[in-house]
Amino acid sequence: MRKISIKDALKINRPVLGDRIPLAFWRILRLIAMPRVLGKKTEAFNKKVGNEIGKIFAVKTPEEIVTAITTSQIGICNPLEKKKGMYAIEFKECFTCSGITPPIGKPICDLEAAIIEGAFKKIGVKVKKVQETKCMGGLGDDVCRIEVETEK
Ligand SMILES: [Zn+2]
Repeated sequence: MRKISIKDALKINRPVLGDRIPLAFWRILRLIAMPRVLGKKTEAFNKKVGNEIGKIFAVKTPEEIVTAITTSQIGICNPLEKKKGMYAIEFKECFTCSGITPPIGKPICDLEAAIIEGAFKKIGVKVKKVQETKCMGGLGDDVCRIEVETEK
């Protein structure tokens, strides 16, 4: 048996159903089944898995990370925010949390934050800290906002 490559995984042959799945399937996996199975390990799992996914993105610049978030339909990004030692990525229509009301009471897009973290690491940015400071379904904000603190 051989290991499944990214190329293998992306060979999709579904003439009728195509390359999309209902978002409900993703959300049940991500927000219901995973935490039920993984319990307290969910956070660590999301961090690792998100970092791996972020590394797979074909990106070379922070701006391309923003484009990749939008084209992969994680959400619709606002333009990248850049300050000294900090990047911020904001997106609407988050595939994980947009529409969840009332809000849960804490940010819930840690996997998405980890994807962004992985992508920044991939392009050689020294990441100090990644934090979701706004979250639609988690905190009732109008966007999900991921702040990436970098070494200066
Ligand atoms: Zn979100």
